[in-house]
Order: sequence, then structure tokens, then C-alpha cells
Amino acid sequence: MTCDFLSLALPGVQKLSPYVPGKPVDELAREFGLRVQDIVKLASNENPLGPSPRVLEAIRAALPELTRYPDGNGFALKQALSHEFGLVPEQLTLGNGSNDILELVTRAFVAPEHEVVFSEHAFAVYPIVTQAVGARAVVVPARDWGHDLSAMAAAITPATRLVFIANPNNPTGTWIGRAELEQFLAGVPERVIVVLDEAYTEYVEDADFPRGFDYLAQYPNLLVSRTFSKAYGLAALRVGYAASHPAIADALNRVRQPFNVNSLALTAACAALADEDYLQRSRELNSAGMAQLEQGFARLGLQWIPSRGNFIAVDLGREAAPVYQGLLREGVIVRPVANYGMPQHLRVTIGLEQENHRFLDALQQVLARV
Ligand SMILES: *Cc1c(COP(=O)(O)O)cnc(C)c1O
Repeated sequence: MTCDFLSLALPGVQKLSPYVPGKPVDELAREFGLRVQDIVKLASNENPLGPSPRVLEAIRAALPELTRYPDGNGFALKQALSHEFGLVPEQLTLGNGSNDILELVTRAFVAPEHEVVFSEHAFAVYPIVTQAVGARAVVVPARDWGHDLSAMAAAITPATRLVFIANPNNPTGTWIGRAELEQFLAGVPERVIVVLDEAYTEYVEDADFPRGFDYLAQYPNLLVSRTFSKAYGLAALRVGYAASHPAIADALNRVRQPFNVNSLALTAACAALADEDYLQRSRELNSAGMAQLEQGFARLGLQWIPSRGNFIAVDLGREAAPVYQGLLREGVIVRPVANYGMPQHLRVTIGLEQENHRFLDALQQVLARV
């Protein structure tokens, strides 16, 4: 090969670092000769409950239709979402995971001369989609690990086209309260699209926690993205959605792939949406597990960042990489977050009680020896 193909790629693509996912269980099993059933994975904010039986039943019933293309407009799921959240189908965009949504909104609206504003320590996909379209990322320093919304508002210039906000944020678990969000939205010029990424909103039980859907009528420049990957337990199927002004949904619809959400995902999402019981069990398990981990960290004398997600970032007070490696050897996969500018933290997904216990035990042992 004489051609340097990477040098032909768009300048933003050449400088991109690809998204680093949590280490798959099978990979760790191969590397360390461990048995898959002995490995605990708390690395990708997956739902530890396993899929809802009602979802599995719906998927089985849909299997005979696999030779057909999916409904490219997602009629049934959009109906169900509209009904559930008091929206109209024209406001909805379905995505192959909500990552797809984040990419669609960037591709539809952002050109190389534009700027995209997001926070330090925010979700890794924001810089990736920004760079992929060749735009300039404006990264606003975090305040107490969370989004500094007043600094983010101040970072908006005539070149700004998009602002990404994650509430709660991943990997920090930090969140934005109602008053702060309202003040921010009121100050953003209408030509700037605000993407409010609510991947974890279903876990938040605080009565006064802001929900983006409540602001769509007032702010036509607001897009709220959500996912079935976390509290609904469908990460493997890849289905997310956005609610926005119909004109924004129209733009996203023009750039998406014709069948971007597959049939099983559509079917499963409808079933998951109807399974309020599963969602409630997810929340209960999460808050119990969160308390378990916080108590465990306190016993070990460790600090953590208070979180409203299904994960928690623990501060080891030292380089986290060797501890991460030590945990792998114990068969426990968590997530290093040095690539998020947090070299002393590890992000741990809330698991089942015994998984949390395994993790805390392993952490204690590893901390004593590395
Ligand atoms: C997990 C996550 C998503 C969504 O992931 P999908 O599986 O693509 O829906 C989006 N935003 C944040 C902040 C996340 O942590």
C-alpha cells in the first residue's frame, strides 16, 4: 500500500481518538484465563437486572418477521412514546441508540465553521461527533466535576451552533437542578440548539429534578435525547430517541439511515415502555446499590462524586490505572476515566448486591497491595 489513507481522511477525523468502551467479559476471560461466570462487569452502565421477561416475550413473538425490513418510521414506538410523555409523533426521532441521535443532530446542523460547546468531563461522544464534522469543540472547565452552566452560557459566540448538556452527566454522575437549567435555557439564543442528554433521567427520583420534555414548548431550540440502554435494560439492541420541535426532528429525519432502528429493537422498546414494574425495580436496585457502594467507599476511606446515575466515580487519591489492572486480575471490570481527564477516579456501575460486594472486596485487596 503506497497511499496513506488516514492522510486523506477529513482533518477532524485524523485527530479523532475513537470511543473506548468498557472491556468485554469475553476479552478478559481470554486474557487472564478466567471463567466468564466468575467475572463481574461494572464498566458500561448496563442494567444488572437482565432484560425484562415481557421484553423477551415480545422479541420472541417478533422473530418470524425477520425477513422484513423494519418500520422505517417507527410508527408504533412513536405512538407509545407520545402517549407516555404527552408528545406528538412529529416531535420524535428514533435512533440506533441515543448515540445515533447525538450524531444526527451534529451532522444535520454543524459545519466546520461552527463551534460546539460542552463541559470538561462530559460524555466522550460529544467531542467525537464534533470533530467528525470538522467543527471546533469549546470545552468549558467543570465546576466541582459538574457542568458550569453560567460559564457554558458565556462560551456561546456567534459561531456556536450546538451545546451538549448531560443531565445527569456520565462519567461524573453530577446533575443540574431545575433553577439552574431554567436560567440557562432562558439565556441561550434561539439559533443555538441545546441538546439535553437524559440517558439516566429514569433513575432520578428527586421530586424537583428537571425533565427536558417540560421545556420543549417554551424552547423550540431544545432537543432532549433519551435511551432504552440504561434503566430499560436494552443496551444490546441499540434504541434511543429524541424529542424536539418538529422542524428539528424533520432535519434529523433527512440525514438518518432509512432503517436506523431494527425491528427487534422497536418491538422491545414498546414492551419495555409498558413495563413500569421493571423500571421501578431498576430504580430500587440502583438506589440500594448506590448506598452499598457509598458505604463501602467510606469504610475504605475513599471519596466519591455524589451521583444520580446508575454508576459512581470513586476517587482513589492516586493513579487509578494500576488499581484498574489489579481489579481485572480479580475478575472485576470497572471503567478507567483518565481519558475524561480523571486519572485518579474509577467509574463503577451499580450492580447486583453480590456484584457490588465482589467489587468492594476486590478493591480492598487491590488497594492493600498495589
Ligand atoms: C450511555 C449514554 C448514552 C446512550 O447510549 P446509547 O446506548 O447509545 O443510547 C448517551 N449519553 C450518555 C451520557 C450516556 O452515558
